[in-house]
Amino acid sequence: MTQQGSFQKVRVRYAPSPTGYLHVGGARTALYNFLYARKNHGDFILRVEDTDEARSSMESLRMVIDDMQWLGLTWEEGPNPKTLEDIGDFGPYKQSARQKIYQAVAQELLQKGLAYYCFLTDAEIEQQKAAVTAEGGQHHLQSPYENWSLAQAQEKLKAGDKAVVRFKTKNLKKDYVLHDLIRGEVRFPSDMVGDFVLLRSDGMPVYNFCCVVDDHLMQISHVLRAEEHLSNTLRQLMIYEAMSWVTPQFGHVSLVLDDDRQKLSKRKGATSCNQFRDEGYLPEAILNFIALLGWSHPEEKEVLSLKEMMDSFSTDRLHSSGAVFDRVKLKWVNAQHLRAKNETDLWQLVEPFLVKNQVAFFSSPQWQNQALRIFKPYMETLVDAVELFKTLDDKHFQIQAESKEVYDWPSSPAVLKAWKDVLEASVDSEITEEGFLKLQDEVKTKSGTKGKFLFMPMRVAVIGKPHGTELKTIIPLMTKKALVNRAEIALAKVNGQWN
Ligand code: GLU
Repeated sequence: MTQQGSFQKVRVRYAPSPTGYLHVGGARTALYNFLYARKNHGDFILRVEDTDEARSSMESLRMVIDDMQWLGLTWEEGPNPKTLEDIGDFGPYKQSARQKIYQAVAQELLQKGLAYYCFLTDAEIEQQKAAVTAEGGQHHLQSPYENWSLAQAQEKLKAGDKAVVRFKTKNLKKDYVLHDLIRGEVRFPSDMVGDFVLLRSDGMPVYNFCCVVDDHLMQISHVLRAEEHLSNTLRQLMIYEAMSWVTPQFGHVSLVLDDDRQKLSKRKGATSCNQFRDEGYLPEAILNFIALLGWSHPEEKEVLSLKEMMDSFSTDRLHSSGAVFDRVKLKWVNAQHLRAKNETDLWQLVEPFLVKNQVAFFSSPQWQNQALRIFKPYMETLVDAVELFKTLDDKHFQIQAESKEVYDWPSSPAVLKAWKDVLEASVDSEITEEGFLKLQDEVKTKSGTKGKFLFMPMRVAVIGKPHGTELKTIIPLMTKKALVNRAEIALAKVNGQWN
């Protein structure tokens, strides 16, 4: 019998295989474990599952760690985020550095006769498979080495033959029952699997083996992980039982699906955290959004801070149905977090995007705060700031094609001329909102226009297009000199040929 856990302390882990960027699905698994640890005053451990040498890399580990840092998911044990050196009493935390530990456990299973050296070659295994398939049966490997004594196998190894270590499933005729925190009771008949590999012939352990050894030795109390690992759990339960180890509590979280209910795909847009970061999403919005893909707040709140999630997280509100990654909703959630920020904090986040896109801005905090106060309602992501701030940067000023209709109105040249004249005549180097409204009245009188025939040509002369931010709010952010320049450009265009 496997014993399902009672542990002194909540200890959970996120165990990425470092083979690329942190995917939002992985980030969600990390988040649930993090929240569970925080809610229960437990430990959150980052364990690096890097035994697949061909696919794992230090660069990938660095990327995963940077993304977790960006999200604010901090861990008590695991690689130090700066140096990548291990911190904690249960290390090493990189599986590649734990080979001796796996070897020792494999030896114990071999000694007890619960595992065996198997010398079947790939070709022999393929032959067996082909024969069974031809008969229409379900293939479970039959190894002639299953009942060899350890001494006999060791002789053969000494002679230079290669062997994997296989777990013996023959005598385990029963159902294994998992009490999954999310899915309830899951039954696995033992014959779903045949004798499976623990160590490859080069001594490298396989995932199912190192995962169990590490979860046990690291005293992991709860394993919250992706649904795709549910089928691995049978093999893992068998190993726990063979070693007489207490199993953690398992919870398998639902898949993250695209709106066509297929697995989340890059073709539909960003799927990794760094892409969302580059697209101007805030870490708190990503956390909020991914938390709700498979979990709900007790009061069904939609906009949540990390603190609120930490205070209210429980596994009984995790649900088992696949969660749809609604990109429109993510944007909405991002806008809520973005608009809740004060201007000073928001500027810190916006500035790098402006710099990257070569958009000039004034260094005065008053100017920056005022600009953000005006633009915030129009921003859903930080990237949106780029186009908005471009309207204030002279080098990006140009009359847009959509202004042509306004230019064709017979009254427009007079409006533009009057606007330029009143600007030049104004004594202030900066124009306040009230100052602008006065100037606008003067233009109205001088040009004899009103309504859209007045506002639209003026807007073209300020922002290069007839629709957009209200002039009275944006004009105080611009110098008189810049406004005169733009008015001249607009006037030159209206007097010349529109092309
Ligand atoms: N390395 C596995 C993965 O990245 C972890 C599985 C587990 O949490 O047990 O999917």
